[in-house]
Amino acid sequence: MNKKTVLITGAAGFLGSHLCDRFITEGYAVIGMDNFITGDKKNIVHLLEHPNFQFIKHDVTEYINIDQDLDYILHFASPASPIDYLKIPIQTLKVGSLGTHNLLGLAKAKRARILIASTSEVYGDPLVHPQPETYYGNVNTIGPRGVYDEAKRFQEAITMAYHRFHGLETRIVRIFNTYGPRMRLNDGRVIPAFMGQALRGEDLTIFGNGLQTRSFCYVDDQVEGIYRLLLSDYSYPVNIGNPHEITIKDFAEEIIKLTGTAQKVIYKDLPIDDPLQRQPDITLAKELLGWEPQISRSEGMIKTFNYFKNLSENELYKSEH
Ligand code: NAD
Ligand code: UDP
Repeated sequence: MNKKTVLITGAAGFLGSHLCDRFITEGYAVIGMDNFITGDKKNIVHLLEHPNFQFIKHDVTEYINIDQDLDYILHFASPASPIDYLKIPIQTLKVGSLGTHNLLGLAKAKRARILIASTSEVYGDPLVHPQPETYYGNVNTIGPRGVYDEAKRFQEAITMAYHRFHGLETRIVRIFNTYGPRMRLNDGRVIPAFMGQALRGEDLTIFGNGLQTRSFCYVDDQVEGIYRLLLSDYSYPVNIGNPHEITIKDFAEEIIKLTGTAQKVIYKDLPIDDPLQRQPDITLAKELLGWEPQISRSEGMIKTFNYFKNLSENELYKSEH
């Protein structure tokens, strides 16, 4: 039997590169696509010589031409950290809208199944807690985070339109905060930020009073959930995340203990529209996919710290991407 072929956009990023690894391990032929706007070639360098892997440097907001059959498409290209999408707001809107449109068109032409990476940000600053898929969200369309949240909401809408109107096989994963090796140390997300600060001997910066909550999922658990969702027959959005919730203040203390840093925490202004609370309701993923996280935060954070600890001095002190 011929190998199935999967196209993964955002392949040089954090999640995209782990997905490439997983699909290669499962015996697929993988085509990775990226324009490196927030990603890094080093995340996929180990795959470049692999016979089942090919890489195409391309901006997915431009027409995508692939001259081979595709079975699956995973659309993960998009800036994902608040400082990234605040720095490149128009590209963020374009990759979620024009990029998604191009990939849906490609999926239709190839009769491929497409899974798109949505986010817990579609729930905005949620008024329902924890967040089930049935919650419509509370997003400030014109706030600085709106460029990401609305791009992802549009992405879900156009994906469902292709499903309903063209009968395309679609999957939508709503990813909650996910962490692990290959996150960019300077991407501004809380885990690389705290890890970098601890390793450089700087104080840990808590935004606001630190009572806002997040629920952190280790990357291997996230990849497993995405893999199962792709192979399921469910077309509506599914939350994938770890429901173990923690305040940012308590999380900073955990990182201080884990890293053994002698530094303390300092407080800075809370960014506009920073959600006060976030915790996935994963009842649907459990029922539908038989999935739930297997890796505790303490275990996942040790693996992540080991990755950051081994980065070069150069990377540790590089402040700009
Ligand atoms: P990342 O920044 O590490 O990876 C994104 C990748 O997409 C990068 O390699 C970047 O260069 C590429 N990219 C961006 N725009 C592109 C374009 N126009 N054309 C081609 N490539 C482009 O981020 P990540 O954390 O790996 O996130 C991947 C996806 O998962 C994103 O769609 C993001 O919205 C979603 N997501 C991630 C999380 C998380 O916690 N990591 C949470 C929710 C949703
Ligand atoms: N945060 C913080 N200090 C930092 C970076 C982030 O206190 O140096 C906070 C941020 O305000 C938010 C939480 O940590 O409340 C998670 O931020 P992240 O950017 O990782 O993800 P998101 O806000 O998209 O969930």
